[in-house]
Amino acid sequence: MRRVAIVGAGPAGMYAAEALSKSGRVDIDILDRLPVPCGLVRYGVAPDHVAIRSVRDTLDGILDLPGVSFLGNVEVGRDVSVEQLSRFYDAIVWCYGAPTDRSLGIDGENLAGSISATAFVNWYTGHPDADRSFDTLLTGPSTAAVIGVGNVAVDVARILVSPIHALRTTEMPDHVLAALEASTIKQVHVLGRRGPAHASFTTKELKELGEIEGVRVIVESRDLVRSDETVAALENDKVASRNFAVLEEWASRDWPHEPRSLWLHFYARPQRIRGDAAVAWLDVARTEVDAEGRARDTGQTWELATDLVIRSVGYRGEPMPGVPFDAARGIVPNTDGRVTDHGSVAPGQYTAGWIKRGPSGIIGTNKKDATATVAALLEDLDDLPVPAERGALPSHLSAIGIVTVNRDGWRRISREECARGVASGRDRVTIHDRVDLLTVSQ
Ligand code: NAP
Repeated sequence: MRRVAIVGAGPAGMYAAEALSKSGRVDIDILDRLPVPCGLVRYGVAPDHVAIRSVRDTLDGILDLPGVSFLGNVEVGRDVSVEQLSRFYDAIVWCYGAPTDRSLGIDGENLAGSISATAFVNWYTGHPDADRSFDTLLTGPSTAAVIGVGNVAVDVARILVSPIHALRTTEMPDHVLAALEASTIKQVHVLGRRGPAHASFTTKELKELGEIEGVRVIVESRDLVRSDETVAALENDKVASRNFAVLEEWASRDWPHEPRSLWLHFYARPQRIRGDAAVAWLDVARTEVDAEGRARDTGQTWELATDLVIRSVGYRGEPMPGVPFDAARGIVPNTDGRVTDHGSVAPGQYTAGWIKRGPSGIIGTNKKDATATVAALLEDLDDLPVPAERGALPSHLSAIGIVTVNRDGWRRISREECARGVASGRDRVTIHDRVDLLTVSQ
């Protein structure tokens, strides 16, 4: 049997494994630097989105398919080089995602109190590498500004204003729940640099913001003017049109006084974050949108007093040493999933998911994407050279003392998470500590 390494056990990697297994022509090792599979389904999807998180069960089932093995706690680049991997495997599929955040490129971005949504999401989902200084970040401040109007910004805003009892049923680790319970945030401002017709959040996610107990949503009518440009944009986009209707209804609703407020500002481009030692103000330029859909400053500015800035302007792919990388797009360059290096196909290397196409789409998008990549791989398979040391990865890892987590180890973690949930009446509690994860897995 030929042997394929998939690097990254998120949705793209798991769906690639499923498609490869179905072919019956290869054995598959799914490698992940974390001791657990599922990637952003575990560390991206908001814990209160229980239905979406249940995709984990589907992904978990892929580990039972013929020829599929999981090798968690293995970091390519640290525990095994790309050059070694290509000696151990007939083909490699890079599915390592887009782990970092895009930057705003404005002054004050690195002040204390200015954080990335990626880091915040890592923290509230219990990622082993989460920044634990966030445990105290929300105690004291009353106002937070979230930059960006994508679904991640909506998740972050919702988590910040949700009443604690709505989160207590989720898998969030106890220290996260304690921090959110102690949170003093009362006002959250979400800022989009273009108009509502150009926001990238989806309607279901947007609507949820209007259904949070104890939260009043504020949208200014000046942001909802149906200019020619807005009308043209809405005509071409059903989701935008539905979003617009939701926002109009909120703007006209007579909201009761509530303990927490959520503001949605559009045509609001952050210019500068100000403060002596920490965030205190956000300078915002009022924009208009031109016929091409680009934001253009109008010359008007306003300022927002805020204690925190959470930058949610998209994820970004990172280079992996030894793997071709398109720095401008933040992806592994490829033609239909075949990795290319300066325009030529790199034999035996493939890619799927966010590192193939950029950070967009829903979880299901990765199935189609990964299946297309696997089709290319299977087309090439008979012509790929036989690797010098096929199957030698496990012995290499044990020789250098790496403790790996296999499918049964992951299932032990999963069972333990469910057992720990029982104590607090929950289905599961995320084990967040890497040592704890490894101990439980063994
Ligand atoms: P996204 O949808 O690409 O949104 C990024 C936002 O940042 C946009 O509003 C963008 O505005 C804004 N932005 C970018 N650069 C900016 C700048 N320099 N200044 C101000 N604003 C800037 O990314 P995301 O929210 O990180 O989501 C990533 C993917 O995951 C998306 O496909 C999303 O739908 C998906 N996701 C889905 C769910 C769900 O289904 N529940 C949950 C989370 C994530 P412009 O449009 O003007 O560039």
